Amino acid sequence: MRIVALTFHDLIASAQTASPGDEFYNLTAEEMETLLSQLRKGGYKTVHSKAFRAWQQGEGSLPERTVVFTFDDGYTSHLDIAASLLKRHRFTGTFFITTDFVGQPGYLTWDQIRQLVFLGMEIGSHGKTHTLLTKLSREALHEELAGSKQLLEAQVGVPVEAFAAPGGFWNGQVARAVQAAGYQAMWVSDIGTNGRDTNPYALRRVVVRRPFSLERVVSMVEGWQPAFWWAASQQRLIKLLKRVLGVYWYERLKRRLVPNA
Ligand SMILES: [Zn+2]
Repeated sequence: MRIVALTFHDLIASAQTASPGDEFYNLTAEEMETLLSQLRKGGYKTVHSKAFRAWQQGEGSLPERTVVFTFDDGYTSHLDIAASLLKRHRFTGTFFITTDFVGQPGYLTWDQIRQLVFLGMEIGSHGKTHTLLTKLSREALHEELAGSKQLLEAQVGVPVEAFAAPGGFWNGQVARAVQAAGYQAMWVSDIGTNGRDTNPYALRRVVVRRPFSLERVVSMVEGWQPAFWWAASQQRLIKLLKRVLGVYWYERLKRRLVPNA
C-alpha cells in the first residue's frame, strides 16, 4: 500500500482576490472544493500524519483509499477556507505552523489554531522562522525544531509530533535533529508515494500549485506513475534553476513565466 500526501499553501476566495506574487502556490476555494469532491467521489478518506505513522509502525490500519492533506505556513485561510471545505467532505488535515508568523497579518492567531484542533485537525510544526534548516548551526537548528514544538504544545495543549521542512530543504543532519527534538515524522517536498518502508524523517509530498490541473493531481493521488515522473522532472528543473540562478533570480524568472497563472 502506497500513500500520497498533498501539500497546500494559501487559499484565496476567488481568482480576483489574488495579490501579485502569491499566484504560484495559491489555490482558489473553488479549485480546492473541486479537488475535494472529486477525491470523495473516488472513495478517498484522509488520515493525520499521526495515524499514518501509527500504520507505518504496524499499529492500526488505513482505509483502502487513503490520502494525506498537509497545509504549510499557517495562513488564516486554513481556518476560513480549508477547514470548512474539509469538514464538508468529512476530510481532515495536518496543519504545519511557523510559530513566528502566528498573529501576523494573513496568518492564524493562537486562538484560531486552537479552533483547528477543535475541528479535528492535527497541528504540526513548520519551524520558528521559516529559515531553511540545512544552513543552520546546531544551536539555531535546535531552536527552530525544539523551540517551535514546545511553544506550539504550550499554546495549543496537544502533542506536536509532525514536522514539515521549510522550503522542503533537508539533509541527514536535519532529519536526525528532527528526530532528536522528539518528532515522530518529517514531511518534505520530495515527490513520490509513502509506504511502510519509507523513512519517517523524509516523507514525500506532492505540492499542489499553479497551473492547477484537477486531472493531474487526482491521477497522482491514484498513484499513476507518469504523473509522478512529470512532476519529478519539473521539480528537478526548478531545483537546477534555483541553484544556477540563485533563489532571488529564480523567483523573478518564475513570476515572468507564470503571470497570474
Ligand atoms: Zn513553508
